[in-house]
Amino acid sequence: MRLETLAVHAGRRADPATGSVAPPIYLSTTFERAEDGSFPHGHVYTRTENPNRLALEDCLRTLEGGTSAAAFSSGSAATASIFQALTPGSHVIAPQDSYTGTKTLLQDIFASWNLESTFVDMADLDQVRAATRPNTRLIWIETPSNPLLKITDIEGVVEIAHGIGALCVCDNTWGTPILQRPLALCADAVMHSTTKYFGGHSDVLGGAIIFREESAFAAKVKRIQVRGGAVPSPFDCWLILRSIGTLPWRMRAHSANAAQVAAFLAQHPQVEAVYYPGLPTHPGHNIAARQMTLFGGMLSFQVRGGQAVAMSVAARVKLFTRATSLGGLESLIEHRASIEGAGTLTPDNLLRVSIGLEHPDDLIEDLEQALHP
Ligand SMILES: *Cc1c(COP(=O)(O)O)cnc(C)c1O
Repeated sequence: MRLETLAVHAGRRADPATGSVAPPIYLSTTFERAEDGSFPHGHVYTRTENPNRLALEDCLRTLEGGTSAAAFSSGSAATASIFQALTPGSHVIAPQDSYTGTKTLLQDIFASWNLESTFVDMADLDQVRAATRPNTRLIWIETPSNPLLKITDIEGVVEIAHGIGALCVCDNTWGTPILQRPLALCADAVMHSTTKYFGGHSDVLGGAIIFREESAFAAKVKRIQVRGGAVPSPFDCWLILRSIGTLPWRMRAHSANAAQVAAFLAQHPQVEAVYYPGLPTHPGHNIAARQMTLFGGMLSFQVRGGQAVAMSVAARVKLFTRATSLGGLESLIEHRASIEGAGTLTPDNLLRVSIGLEHPDDLIEDLEQALHP
C-alpha cells in the first residue's frame, strides 16, 4: 500500500470492545492478570507497554519501513537514548549544522560520560571520512540541516559508517518518511521529533526511533526507552497518531507553499541569500532531488543590513508568528542566532521560517510588507 493509505490505516482499527472508530485512550497505568497469573492482553504496566503507544509505534514503523519503533516523550529523549546506547569512550561524528539540542547533548551531557564528538560539514563527505577514528561508533545525519538547510548524501555517509563498522542514524524530523526514507538507503535507524510534522498542530511533544533491523543496538535502545522511562503519555500518543492520518497531504502542501515563498524571497532585493533545497541554485539541490520526493516546508534567508534589519523584519510580520519550533499548521518565523545563544555559527541576519498551511499568496504578501517598511 502507498504512504497515504498507510498513514490513515497503520496502527488503527475499530475498537473490538465497543466498535469505536476513533481509538480509545487507555490511561490505565496497570493491567489485570488472569487467574493463572498471565497477562491475557500482553500489557503489564504503561511504562513498559501501553496500547496507544504500541499503536503509534506500529504506525511509525510502517511509514518509515522499519522492523520496529520506540516512541519517546520528546525528540531529545529519543536522541539521548541513542547516545546512551553507545559505550563510554565511543566517538560520534555529527553535523556542524545540527539541531542545537543534539549538539548540546553531545557537548554538555554526554561528554561527561566520555562520549567523544566531532562536528563536520556533512555536505562534504571528505570531511566525514577525515573525522573517522578507530573508536567511531556512530555517524549522526540531519538532512536537511538546521538552520542552513544543508543536504547530506545519506547513502554516501551510510557507506562511510558501515565501512568502519559504525552505525548511521538519521534525524528525519524535517523530511518525514513522506519526503525521505533513510532506512531504504540503509541507515540503521531514523530519529524523529514527532513534536514537529507528525504532531503537526504545535500542541504535543514527542520523539521516536525506528530501526531498519532487529539488532543488539535496537534492543538496547528499547531497553533504555522502558527502563529509563522517557515514554510519551497515552494521550500524547493518541494525538500524534490522530495527526499522522493527514501527514502525507500536509507535507505536500507545506512543500508547495515553501517552494513559492522561496522563489519570492530569492528574487527580493532586500534578501541576501535563501536556503531552500528546492531552489536549483542550492548547492545540495541535486542530492536532495535524488533522495527526497519534495523539498519540505522549512527555509531560511539572510536579510541585507545585518541583525537589526533582520529583527525588524521579524517584528513587522502580521501573519507569521514569532516563535521557535516548526511543522505546525501556522507559519512561524524566528531569528535563529538569538535562540541558539553564545557560540552559534548561525549568521546574525538569518531568519528561519516554518511554512504552514495558509494560502501562499497571503504568506508572500506578509513577507513583502515586512521587507518593505
Ligand atoms: C525539534 C527538533 C529536535 C528535538 O525535538 P524535541 O521534541 O524538541 O525534543 C531534534 N531534531 C530536530 C531536527 C528538531 O527540529
